[in-house]
Amino acid sequence: MRLPKLLTLTVTLVFLTTTFAQPAAQAQDLTPCRIQKLDATSRMSIGWPKSAASLPSIGSVNILVMAVDFENAIELGNTEQILKRALRLDKVTEYFKQVSGGLFNPNFVLFPNLVKLPFSSSYYGDSPFLDTFVNGRWSTEHLAQGAIDIVQNSMDLSQFDAAITLVSGGSVLSGNAAYAFIETSDQDPNKSDINRHIIVGQGAMNFPNIESWKVIAHELNHLLGIADLYLLSEDGWWQGRSTGPFGIQSSLAKFATDSLGWERWLLNWIPDPRIYCQGRAKTQKNLSMGPRAANSSATELFIVNLSPTKVLAVEALTHDGYESSTYPDSVLVYTVDSAIPMGEGPVRIIPHPTKITLAPLSSAIPDWNRFQTAPLKPGEYVRYENFLILNNAKIKGAVSISFFVGKDATRKFKELETLKNAKVKMTILCRKGTKVKKVTSIQPKCLDGYRKQQPYQNSKE
Ligand SMILES: [Zn+2]
Repeated sequence: MRLPKLLTLTVTLVFLTTTFAQPAAQAQDLTPCRIQKLDATSRMSIGWPKSAASLPSIGSVNILVMAVDFENAIELGNTEQILKRALRLDKVTEYFKQVSGGLFNPNFVLFPNLVKLPFSSSYYGDSPFLDTFVNGRWSTEHLAQGAIDIVQNSMDLSQFDAAITLVSGGSVLSGNAAYAFIETSDQDPNKSDINRHIIVGQGAMNFPNIESWKVIAHELNHLLGIADLYLLSEDGWWQGRSTGPFGIQSSLAKFATDSLGWERWLLNWIPDPRIYCQGRAKTQKNLSMGPRAANSSATELFIVNLSPTKVLAVEALTHDGYESSTYPDSVLVYTVDSAIPMGEGPVRIIPHPTKITLAPLSSAIPDWNRFQTAPLKPGEYVRYENFLILNNAKIKGAVSISFFVGKDATRKFKELETLKNAKVKMTILCRKGTKVKKVTSIQPKCLDGYRKQQPYQNSKE
């Protein structure tokens, strides 16, 4: 099954059934919040279990990196240098080190020479952007297998967990295209040892306003079993059902933040004690939260189980590194629903209500702009169904949130709205020479010639 990706980045899904080793039992039972993956044919998901064919998300993995061209290819210089410059693998390594808390270490091994495939590029496919079926195979498989067939003569491939192939010339898939796919082992008995592949076109490495390393990180996330969080439909970028700027599975733009906490949990990158799972929400909850940070033990992800396939998640955001575009001490609220297929918005942002986040859907407001103000800053709150989520403030170095249910949520909501809308009168002192006047109003201002008296002056009077 093949799904087209926004622009021309695409992914391939291959059938596999699997079992998943659950982490050792923790003091708190997180099971109710581990929503079940419904589509057993997909290797990518926002639910459990994770496909066993996925790239292991804990520890070091070895990834072979090759540049391919076609029968008349001319080597344009040092291939290793070209690969390093094009793919920015140093940034990919740094990114995963940071978002996994040092748990996942991709180790890239560059094949030193340009891999010249034996036929012209038209033999492997007929589109620079789309994976097409030509000469009995999909272009992506043709290219991956063609490269492997050549490289395996000079390299032991059994040490590799995955391969990245940069299509540096020709026309087939050399445009703004990137694919991740995992082959099933029964396809070709003579196939290589490597069955997890990323094919990326030179055009995707030079795409305006997109950093090439993010394309590689996005596709590597797919090999790890992580789903896309943008919408596949042509107008999907402004339908309010993607995660907008949150996570590189949704947006590769410069201001986009790193992976969502939910995805990090799927990859076992958040320690279980930093997750709080509330099964079948019925009661109010106050919780101290803290973002992903090396020395924090506060809850990073607060999850409320709504059904076997759906949860509400509240995630503490950090304000540095790959999440520097977000507000300090803010929390992001979203739902995760495994009954919604990938490409139709299985993860949806519940934004702080503002003019922009609530504006009617329009191509003038892409999701990455609409949701930029989605996180709840201290003092802000949002309603979802019969719940209310309030970011109280930062208390003792941690963000304090309150979660209200049912009548309590309604009562608290009314109280907060009343406070917000209250026309509170204030009094200021205005001074002109030795004259001092009191002015009391909703927005007090001093008369002409008078200056507002600063509070510290009171003590001098
Ligand atoms: Zn993708």
